[in-house]
Amino acid sequence: MSSLRDLPSVDLIIQTPQVQEWIGSYGRPLTIEAIRSVLSQVRSRFVKDESRPAILPGHQALLDDIQQTLQLWTAPTLEPVINASGVILHTNLGRAPLSQAALQAIQSVALGYSNLEYDLEQGKRGSRLVHAEALLQRLTGAEAALVVNNNAAAVLLALTALARRRAVVIARSQLVEIGGGFRVPDVMKQSGARLLEIGATNRVHLSDFEAALAESPALIMRVHRSNFRIVGFTSEPELSELAGLAHQSGIPLVDDLGSGSLLDTARFGLGHEPMVQESLAAGADLVCFSGDKLLGGPQAGIIIGRTDLVGKLKKHPLARAIRADKLCLAALSATLLHYLKDEAEREVPIWRMISASPECLRQRVADWAEKLGQGTVTPGESTVGGGSLPGETMPTFLLALSLRSPDRFLARLRHTRPAVIARLQDDQVVFDPRTVLVEQEAVLLANLKQLLG
Ligand SMILES: *Cc1c(COP(=O)(O)O)cnc(C)c1O
Repeated sequence: MSSLRDLPSVDLIIQTPQVQEWIGSYGRPLTIEAIRSVLSQVRSRFVKDESRPAILPGHQALLDDIQQTLQLWTAPTLEPVINASGVILHTNLGRAPLSQAALQAIQSVALGYSNLEYDLEQGKRGSRLVHAEALLQRLTGAEAALVVNNNAAAVLLALTALARRRAVVIARSQLVEIGGGFRVPDVMKQSGARLLEIGATNRVHLSDFEAALAESPALIMRVHRSNFRIVGFTSEPELSELAGLAHQSGIPLVDDLGSGSLLDTARFGLGHEPMVQESLAAGADLVCFSGDKLLGGPQAGIIIGRTDLVGKLKKHPLARAIRADKLCLAALSATLLHYLKDEAEREVPIWRMISASPECLRQRVADWAEKLGQGTVTPGESTVGGGSLPGETMPTFLLALSLRSPDRFLARLRHTRPAVIARLQDDQVVFDPRTVLVEQEAVLLANLKQLLG
C-alpha cells in the first residue's frame, strides 16, 4: 500500500474471519473502536511523513496492531505479583494476603445476596454494623466496635465526631507521617479539631498533659510511632497514666495503634508491637487499628471501645461515607475467627510468614537452588513492614543470583507474569522465601528458569 486510498475501510476489516472472532471475545463496539484507532494512527503517521515516500502497513500488520490494541485496552491493571522481597506487609504490594477462609467468606457473599443489612430473625431491616462487632467484643473484651474503610478513616471519624471545633491534646513526638502522604496532623486538622501540641520532639511529661487540660480539650490522643523510633534521651508517660489523667477530667483517651496486634510479636523474636488488648487494659476509651496490617485481614479501620463513644461515631454522617463493604466485613469476620479459635498462627498468612523458622526457610531456598541448578543460599533479613516494628528484622535465607546486569534482571522479573518482585543485596539479585506463598513456588521457579535459560 502506498496511498491512503489503499487503506482498507472499517467495514472491510470487519469482514475478516479473525476480526469476527475478536468481536466474539471483545464485543463489537470495542473492536470497532480499536480498528478506528489503529486506522487513524496510520493516517496521521502517513500525513506527517508526506515528504518521504510513505509505506502503509500491510493487511496482516494492521490486524496485529488491532489485536494488540484490544489486548492493551482489556488487560487488568490490578494483577497478582509474587513478593520475593521479604517485606511481609508491603503496602505497595497490597499489604496482607488473606487466609483461605477469608477468601471463601468473600466468595460466599459476593456471588449472591446476603443479609448484610437484613435481620433474619425479625424479617426486617438490620444493620451492617453487627457483622464483625460480636467477634471483636469477644476477642478484645471491648464494649463496642465499629468497622470502617481503613484506619485513616477511623481516626478521621473519631476526631470529627468527638472533637470538631475543639482542642485535641497530642505529644509532638507522635505527629507521624505514615507514608503515601498520610500525616497525622493533617488528618486531625481535616476533622476540624484544633491540635494542642505539647512536649518536645524527644520528651513529653505527664505534667505537660496536665497543663494542657486548662484549655478544656475534647480528648487526649495517643498515636503509635508506627514507622520510626526515637532513641536516646526520651521519655513519655505510660498509656495508663494518660488514661488516669483523661478520666479525672472526664474526657476520653483515644489511641491510634496503627497496626495493632492481637498476638504478641515478641513471641517470634521480634520487638513488642503494642497490642489491642493492652491498650484497652491500660484504659484507652477508643482504640483504632488497621485491618490489613498485623491483623492480616482485608483493608479496614477498626474502632473498639466504650459503647457511648462508639455509638456517637456510628451515628455521625461521616460514618456512612466511610462504611465497610460486604466483602470487607466477610473477610474481616473470617480473619477474626482465626484468632478466636487460636489458629491465627497456622491460618493467617502473615503469621505463617512471621513464624517461619530459619531452618525451614533455608530448606526452601536450597530446594530452589537445586531445581534451578543455579544460585547460592545466603543468610539475609526479612522485615515486617507496613508501618510496624521499624528497624526490626527476622533472620532468613535468600536465594542469591550473581548476574551481569542485576538491575536489568530485576526489570525482566517485573515483566514476567505473574510479575516477580525481588531485591538487590551486594550486587546480587536475592529472593526471600518468607513472603513467597508455597502455592507460587512452582510458577516462580518456572519463570526464573525461562529467564535464566
Ligand atoms: C498505618 C497507620 C494508619 C493508617 O492506617 P490505614 O489502614 O492504612 O488507613 C494510621 N495511623 C497509624 C499510626 C498507622 O500506623
